[in-house]
Amino acid sequence: MRCPKCSSSDTRVIDSRGSRADASIRRRRECTECGYRFTTVEEVLRESLRVIKRDATREDFSRDKLFRSVRKAIEGRPVDLEQVEMMLADLVDQLEREFGFEIPTRAIGEEIMNRLRRVDQMAFVRFAIAYKDIEDIAELDRELEWIRS
Ligand SMILES: [Zn+2]
Repeated sequence: MRCPKCSSSDTRVIDSRGSRADASIRRRRECTECGYRFTTVEEVLRESLRVIKRDATREDFSRDKLFRSVRKAIEGRPVDLEQVEMMLADLVDQLEREFGFEIPTRAIGEEIMNRLRRVDQMAFVRFAIAYKDIEDIAELDRELEWIRS
């Protein structure tokens, strides 16, 4: 791994931490040339993974798309992006074990809400509104009821 600052290839790992399900590993590295410290996240690339949409059509799984939808929900909230990366890696790993190579988007959305709810409730509400296409106040009220429970 090259140092992003001085491009030296002489870097060493000073700390590594795995996610809960070991779906990804975070490494803290230090450049032995200039002393610069940076973090890398290592995870399995899932090229064959697909999602089943609500209308039953299939689509290639997009990690970026997933990440963007959650990033939107946590915008301005005290949630660490790295924590989100780890959460998503863990979540995809869990759903793959449960569903195999084709995962319903519904299951992905529900699982994100489950986890986001524990991380930041405002982010959870934002995600729920965007994901569920909540149209009326009564429905939003039911979602909020769920948070309070
Ligand atoms: Zn360096």
